[in-house]
Amino acid sequence: MKIIVLMFVVMVLGACDGMIAHKKRYYFALTANGEKSRELLNFYFYKFNSNFNVDVLKFLPPDHHRSDDEVSTILMVPRMSEREGEDDGTLGWGQWRTCVKMSSFKTLLVSPHKMITKIHTMHLEFDVTRFTEWHYSDKLAEREQAESLFLHEIGHGFHLDHDPDKNAVMYENINDAKKNHQKYYDKVAKFLEE
Ligand SMILES: [Zn+2]
Repeated sequence: MKIIVLMFVVMVLGACDGMIAHKKRYYFALTANGEKSRELLNFYFYKFNSNFNVDVLKFLPPDHHRSDDEVSTILMVPRMSEREGEDDGTLGWGQWRTCVKMSSFKTLLVSPHKMITKIHTMHLEFDVTRFTEWHYSDKLAEREQAESLFLHEIGHGFHLDHDPDKNAVMYENINDAKKNHQKYYDKVAKFLEE
């Protein structure tokens, strides 16, 4: 009920987006057996953040005070493509989520016109077997595929859809085409600035 009411409020305010404050810093928790992949993921977090000179992606510190709806999650799945019983080739999954809250008193003091805060989070899943294999491979092409897989799934977390261009990071299949990172980062930058 609360969600429907809040969604309604947002729809009413939709025409004047200036009243909405966006939180687009992503704090990640690793679920299930994900701890073993922290170092690997940190490598890609760091590489990604360097492009923006700001920590867009971060791991949650152990003593955090964030509520569940402010936390992004990563699930590392062994042999993900076989999960549904048959090998469909799925190696990752990325889903954006948003949650709407009335702005805190602190936010209102700084920007009185930001009545509502939209908190953006994402949920990611990776085939840990393949991702790890590619990441530590001695073949450059495979290490590039690991990076493409990571960027592709967080791309969905930033509301990006598939791109029919085979050289795009957001092309629907992992292929060995050289990826156009600039185009990808420009799109993400646009989303982060909105
Ligand atoms: Zn996709």
